[in-house]
Amino acid sequence: MAVAINAPSRTKPTILDLGRSELEREVVDSFGQSRYRAKQIWQAVHRECIDDFDAITTLPKALRNELSERYVVDPLEKVLHLTSRDGSTDKALFRLPDGELIETVLMRYKSDSHRKARKTVCVSTQAGCALGCTFCATGQQGFRRQLSVGEIVAQIIFMQRIGLAEDRAEVEDGRRDLGSVQGVTNVVFMGMGEPLANYDNTMAAIRSINDANGLAVGARHITLSTVGLAPQIIQLAGENIQINLAVSLHAPDDETRSETMPINRRYPLSVLLDACRRYVESTDRRIFFEYVLLKGQNDTISHARKLGNLLSGMLCHVNLIPVNPTSDGPYERTSRDDAELFQVELRRFGVPSTVRIEKGIDIDAGCGQLRARVM
Ligand code: SF4
Repeated sequence: MAVAINAPSRTKPTILDLGRSELEREVVDSFGQSRYRAKQIWQAVHRECIDDFDAITTLPKALRNELSERYVVDPLEKVLHLTSRDGSTDKALFRLPDGELIETVLMRYKSDSHRKARKTVCVSTQAGCALGCTFCATGQQGFRRQLSVGEIVAQIIFMQRIGLAEDRAEVEDGRRDLGSVQGVTNVVFMGMGEPLANYDNTMAAIRSINDANGLAVGARHITLSTVGLAPQIIQLAGENIQINLAVSLHAPDDETRSETMPINRRYPLSVLLDACRRYVESTDRRIFFEYVLLKGQNDTISHARKLGNLLSGMLCHVNLIPVNPTSDGPYERTSRDDAELFQVELRRFGVPSTVRIEKGIDIDAGCGQLRARVM
């Protein structure tokens, strides 16, 4: 499929780059308006997900014009939008104002005996990535640049428009109560890029989407995933925010881990797990360890034993994820049966785990796969 990659067409910043108090300062100091106006603007773009200042009809026309002269609302230009055959997963490819391409995924989960139905957005924090994990399509494409706060938040707002429309349609045909219209329920920072390598913008985006007058995604419904930048894990422990931390482990020893994750040479397992223990001690929160199963590489019973030894006694949970093979990558998917045997072995060490449901295989939903195909 050929898609034209155009030159940048917009140069104005997005108003989504501003946090709530920054927006208030801007509206009061630069526009000479009241705090009340700032609140109206915040709610219009973050809660109602309006994408054009002119549509905020509660604002005076002159203020709408002034806002449009200085800012855009949405910095994302949609290039592709795909839905998986089973309807559970949407994936969008966006062009940023400077021509960079990023991906965002919406995953719909039905309710089951353990959890309510949810809509989870997987968001990118960088265009490309410098860390070069060998199993990851983004890692194979190299680093382009950091995303701004607004470029991160806008991905969630895009999917929120879809989520709200679906919820409201269900209200109309009697399948849902009006009070349960929520749209996106969960956000995972697991898309393109390493969120802790774009620390300040990622944290500012988390504060924006957590704001009760905006998207209001609960902190406990936000998961930040890292390949293991140990100093930033310790920094995160001091943030006083109740988000979930997921650490991509993918191997139970330094030799195996360094083969697929070059970051392991900088922060080997002893350093990484020391940071994780310090995080658990100071937050009293469980850490999620992500373990992508690569057939023959890290999925044997002996790997499971080593992993069990490493994590035994820590407040943690392991997510086992059979790899999404890339078209040119060397890895094959571990079978469901082998994944379950791995899980049984972990249980012997008292380490709880889940085999993660695979979603969106037919739309290249793995991190960076759609961008790689389009490029
Ligand atoms: S897995 Fe994450 S950190 Fe590793 S290369 Fe891919 S985007 Fe970067």
